[in-house]
Amino acid sequence: MEKRINGHTRLYALIGSPVGHSGSPAMQNYSFEKLGIDAAYLAFDVNVGQTAKALEAFRTLNVGGFNVTMPCKTEVARLVDRLSPAAELIGACNTVVVEEDGTMTGHITDGTGFVRNLKEHSVEVKDQKIVVLGTGGAATAIAVQAALDGVAEIAIFNRKDEFFANGEKTVEKIKKAVPTIGKVYIEDLDNTEKLRAVIAESDILINATRAGMAPLQDVIPVPEDVLRPELAVADVVYNPLETLLVKKAKEAGCRAAIGGIGMLLWQGAAAFELFTGKEMPVEEVKEKFF
Ligand code: NAD
Repeated sequence: MEKRINGHTRLYALIGSPVGHSGSPAMQNYSFEKLGIDAAYLAFDVNVGQTAKALEAFRTLNVGGFNVTMPCKTEVARLVDRLSPAAELIGACNTVVVEEDGTMTGHITDGTGFVRNLKEHSVEVKDQKIVVLGTGGAATAIAVQAALDGVAEIAIFNRKDEFFANGEKTVEKIKKAVPTIGKVYIEDLDNTEKLRAVIAESDILINATRAGMAPLQDVIPVPEDVLRPELAVADVVYNPLETLLVKKAKEAGCRAAIGGIGMLLWQGAAAFELFTGKEMPVEEVKEKFF
């Protein structure tokens, strides 16, 4: 460390609350060191009310960029100077690049990380019919990115809870931003008959709800009989590493059964690339930290 940190070392950061559990400092610092980049990455516990002050401090200190986690993602999107098309549509960002003159551009790498992880498992989204379960943060990022990447149709399913209205808004935003998309709509997740019929016609099923995540580890968000070999199944949940949905998808012989940990890895890799213009040494990072 005493050899690595010097008077020129550029600071990168993570803000949000809590941040103590985050794996980002380890993977980003390891990658800086591995590629010989004179930079260091630290996590700061920042709540929504402190966000504007934190950004001002980052400008003053010439911080190179920062990641953002809950609960600051929407507040940061409001405060930065520019947003990427996906971050603009979603109204949230998780990665901000700071120019030398202090200009801040917000990006969101959750969706790109998810799509990249599918690619790693030989699943392409272009021209595919996809089902997205969920209308929260992860689901919105995935639906928007999939639309920008040229999916044929998106069917969003969610329970009629406090997140449902957000899904309705996402549908309208996607229709406006990607008018070439075949179909995008939202349905009630409890309408099992509709869910079965739509999944039977779809290529990819994505769980982006909390179903499957501890303490809901015994919950599977769809009836098991919808899982068939032609379907690719992907989960955003990575705790447990293999969710019940992924386990059942493997048992049913689905052409892909993908857990959420790869999305976490690739969203970090995408942030690293935005910060440095270089590829993260993903294989080594995966081996060391995942
Ligand atoms: P969120 O709170 O924004 O949204 C929660 C979603 O889950 C809503 O759509 C809600 O309706 C749904 N939901 C909650 N309980 C449910 C249940 N019992 N059955 C069906 N639906 C239910 O959460 P988020 O930030 O979008 O996170 C969702 C999941 O995605 C979490 O498990 C989180 O850990 C995971 N996640 C993973 C990554 C990754 O990199 N792999 C990134 C972000 C989030």
